[in-house]
Amino acid sequence: TDPAQASTIKTTCPYCGVGCGVLATTAADGSVSVKGDPEHPANFGRLCSKGSALAETLSLDDRLLYPQINGKRESWDTALDLVADRFAQTIAEHGPDSVAFYVSGQILTEDYYVANKLMKGFIGSANIDTNSRLCMASSVAGHRRAFGSDTVPGTYEDLEKADLVVLVGSNLAWCHPVIFQRIEAAKATNPALRVVVIDPRRTATCELADLHLGLKPDTDVALFNGLLAYLAEADCLDQSYIDQYTNGFDGALAKAGPVDMAKIAGQTGLSAQDIALFYTMVARTEKTVTVYSQGVNQSVVGTDKVNAIINTHLATGRIGRAGMGPFSITGQPNAMGGREVGGLANMLAAHMAIENPDHRELVQSFWQSPSMATRQGLKAVDMFRAVGEGRIKAIWIMATNPVDSLPDADDVAMALKACPFVVVSDVSTAVDTLAYADVALPGAAWGEKDGTVTNSERRISRQRGFLDLPGETRPDWWALCEVAKRMGFAERFDYADASEIFAEHASLSAHDNDGQRDFDIGGLADLGRSGYQDLDPVQWPVRAGQPRRDSRFFAGGGYFTPDRKANFIAVEAVAPRKRERTYPFVLNTGRVRDHWHTMTRTGKTARLSAHMAEPYAEIHPDDAASIGLADAELVEVKSPHGRVVVRALVSDKAQKGSVFVPLHWTDQFASTGRVDAVVAPETDPVSGQPGSKFTPVALSRV
Ligand code: SF4
Repeated sequence: TDPAQASTIKTTCPYCGVGCGVLATTAADGSVSVKGDPEHPANFGRLCSKGSALAETLSLDDRLLYPQINGKRESWDTALDLVADRFAQTIAEHGPDSVAFYVSGQILTEDYYVANKLMKGFIGSANIDTNSRLCMASSVAGHRRAFGSDTVPGTYEDLEKADLVVLVGSNLAWCHPVIFQRIEAAKATNPALRVVVIDPRRTATCELADLHLGLKPDTDVALFNGLLAYLAEADCLDQSYIDQYTNGFDGALAKAGPVDMAKIAGQTGLSAQDIALFYTMVARTEKTVTVYSQGVNQSVVGTDKVNAIINTHLATGRIGRAGMGPFSITGQPNAMGGREVGGLANMLAAHMAIENPDHRELVQSFWQSPSMATRQGLKAVDMFRAVGEGRIKAIWIMATNPVDSLPDADDVAMALKACPFVVVSDVSTAVDTLAYADVALPGAAWGEKDGTVTNSERRISRQRGFLDLPGETRPDWWALCEVAKRMGFAERFDYADASEIFAEHASLSAHDNDGQRDFDIGGLADLGRSGYQDLDPVQWPVRAGQPRRDSRFFAGGGYFTPDRKANFIAVEAVAPRKRERTYPFVLNTGRVRDHWHTMTRTGKTARLSAHMAEPYAEIHPDDAASIGLADAELVEVKSPHGRVVVRALVSDKAQKGSVFVPLHWTDQFASTGRVDAVVAPETDPVSGQPGSKFTPVALSRV
């Protein structure tokens, strides 16, 4: 930046999956201010409290500025040599599956692409997973089962064009505030628009709801199976869509069973009257969008929940048309970009399948790589279990803080303590995981690095650097490439900048793709450096040489299965797990409005910390009374895995029998608030996503 002149650049907010455009202005005195980009199609100038405070989080306090080995400053060369040597040595002695990368929905697509390429194509293992596993893996699995691909069919505009928006397991008002604002504005101008919130908690999102269904935790499949059966009985099916474009409807309907309101009421804890009202609203409203988020995904039956929702849209043909469709909203800024490059242990690259030998061959020949992972790698929870059991002996953790954010977090910390070699790349020293690093590598932060992210509606936007790199910080892709070069793969990791990585990623997506795969951005492969620098937000697909068509998918079928038809999935409503007598409450975790992840950025501003100054447990008044607890007293929340002590927030917004504790606080910010130490490491068997919203716990007054 030229210090003599004020300059404004367009970039993208680094927090949630809404992916808002930001105008960052650097004044002549070097100070930075931000505002929403009025031209960005995700937010049209809006920003939420977190996005608006971005300029207040740019200080270098707590920044990791130099490489370190065992806590002592070293040169990049020494640190990179050590990382490459130890990974190569471990692979030589114990095979490629003895090493792992654990990355993040915070890193940019270009970082993700290089990490995935190095692990899957050059090390030859699929042991790369991401904290996005904790966020949307069940949606990915549900999409792939139903559509044959991980495709979000609709766009944000559908939420404004709908006459009914059903929000399932989503506190949109706090977690995706700008989308909430868009629906709020649409509701103000369209009196026909109705909003239903399905959530055990009465969250801030319920302020917009015409109907709140406070169902029992993890009973969504019963509710949506009942809806499928109701739509069939009420003659609301689109039989022509079902016949032309889908398979398996009869099986799914048979599994849903006949409509039995009393039974559904018993399963969900809802009144038969409310259920009937909801079903009638859906049956009568063609323009229905069902938005779902972590309350659906973070469950041991998360994938089944996703498919139960999708089934109702396939059955009515309400998909891929304006104002209609199932809509998974991702938590993180670049969970979608990670999915696109294949940065999950069970995916390949460009939405190709690791199980498919043709896809493996295609990717390997494109990469000209010496080896290729042939089977799925370890997903997040299993990966750290393998670290604990000594099967993984070297791990590189990038832009995430697993000793605070993974379930059973104390066990994760113990596993890392015993691991022979741990590398942590981060921008912050206020990260508990750093204490376990043999090598710490300083990453470039938001405002300093260049690359792309993809938001929940498949829109690729540029993050652009407008600050000089402080200290010896470097982009993560650079550190990965330097290690790859030192491991003998110099030729295939020789990129001058992020634009060259993006071009390769775009080119791979188009390679041998004649419309058989959804993710194709071949039309962006030849942007060059200046075209990449100037890239405007764009939704994929962007197929080379083809005019942009409708940005929605599946209105006329065209699924990415072998017969191009969608699959109904016959899902069964299973009763939620039993609570043991010693752990009679259900712990639910989630975000607060003004903090992000483990607070390494949002914790820097007093303004954001003012909203919720400390961790808390939201408890129903009857439950509080049952343990003699008053509002604002300290309460211990305990499971077989760990405990936290936090302040009680006694509120009838909590469901009886449930307790909510936010996930942000770590040892850096509140020594007794690491809630993921309490969360059980149980996962969905299909997606591998932890059920972070259902851990049986005991409560006691401290
Ligand atoms: Fe950033 Fe999400 Fe807020 Fe938009 S809604 S400003 S992307 S945190």
